[in-house]
Amino acid sequence: TNRTFTMIKPDGVENGHVGAILEKITASGFRIVAMKLTQMTTADAQEFYGVHKERPFFGELVEFMTRGPIVAAILEKENAVADFRTLIGATNPAEAAEGTIRALYAASVGENAVHGSDSDENAAIEGAFHFSGREMF
Ligand code: ATP
Repeated sequence: TNRTFTMIKPDGVENGHVGAILEKITASGFRIVAMKLTQMTTADAQEFYGVHKERPFFGELVEFMTRGPIVAAILEKENAVADFRTLIGATNPAEAAEGTIRALYAASVGENAVHGSDSDENAAIEGAFHFSGREMF
């Protein structure tokens, strides 16, 4: 088994989709290792999305990710990173496969309901960004 890191983004929380999204995640075989409702500061979001700092949408992304609470979680399953990205669907919900979390709950490429780590290495970094060892089960 291995792990991935996810966030239900501010739009997903605002729109009342936390329960439905968590239900889909657990029904798909992911075990919740760590989870909390939290809010990113501007500095947090700038660091978390540092790889995108030169992109034209960076300012908008930081504004969006800090505008309200998120649900952060670490998830465990065999092939967690790849299987979770399949479950959430394409970054742009217009291109996301039917039944995926983004197809069901996301409004746009910017406000796309959920995050999923893109590698095992980033999953570990992102999980450690949000959780201490004693918050992981
Ligand atoms: P995430 O990292 O959130 O799981 P991703 O890996 O599918 O998303 P990336 O290309 O890494 O997508 O982009 C990170 C995030 O930046 C996207 O989820 C989205 O919120 C935002 N983003 C990406 N492209 C755009 C864009 N063209 N306009 C606005 N926001 C964007």
